Amino acid sequence: MQLLKERILKDGTVKPGNVLKVDSFLNHRMDIGLINEIGKEFRRRFPSDKITKILTIEASGIGIACIAAQYFHVPVVFAKKAQSINIDGEVYHTKVESFTHKKVYDVILSRKFLDPDDHVLVIDDFLANGCALMGLLDIIEEAGATLEGAGIVIEKGFQQGGQIIRQKGIHLESLAIIDTMTDTSLTFRE
Ligand code: 5GP
Repeated sequence: MQLLKERILKDGTVKPGNVLKVDSFLNHRMDIGLINEIGKEFRRRFPSDKITKILTIEASGIGIACIAAQYFHVPVVFAKKAQSINIDGEVYHTKVESFTHKKVYDVILSRKFLDPDDHVLVIDDFLANGCALMGLLDIIEEAGATLEGAGIVIEKGFQQGGQIIRQKGIHLESLAIIDTMTDTSLTFRE
């Protein structure tokens, strides 16, 4: 997605540890015009009318998923990160290692909000090693729901997540795939 790539080049900054900061337009201050175009682009790439829910993970996926959902006319559900929990049978549960915080979180979703009839599109801001996305796939599997695909705003193609997900035969659409990233330069996959 050209508009997104141009914005990453203009306003993205690279931090130690292979972290791309895009907090001036995507996940802290949010450019709603751009995110609206991102939402439309996800709809174009996932035209199926089977989709019944969009699933994301807190925090930074939520805003993007909500704007995209307006083009799918389906609800958004988001998995919550919990520091410690009592698994009481009311929730689906998995564990996710955070790439940016280097911590393992328990992640939960109420059983009320996802069931075997659902056809789910997963949306998130970044795909790096794939832990967040795999956690969401675990939850979909636990619910017995059908995965329709995964839409990612920025994939860091030099990390393993994209390859793992594609090898599983999952329909993965990343709007910008970064091939190389240093303090001073950034290249995208065509
Ligand atoms: P993964 O689980 O695929 O390793 O990482 C995905 C999650 O980590 C995303 O939900 C995102 O919040 C965060 N993340 C991974 N890499 C980056 C990055 O380079 N920049 C930012 N801002 N977040 C990232």
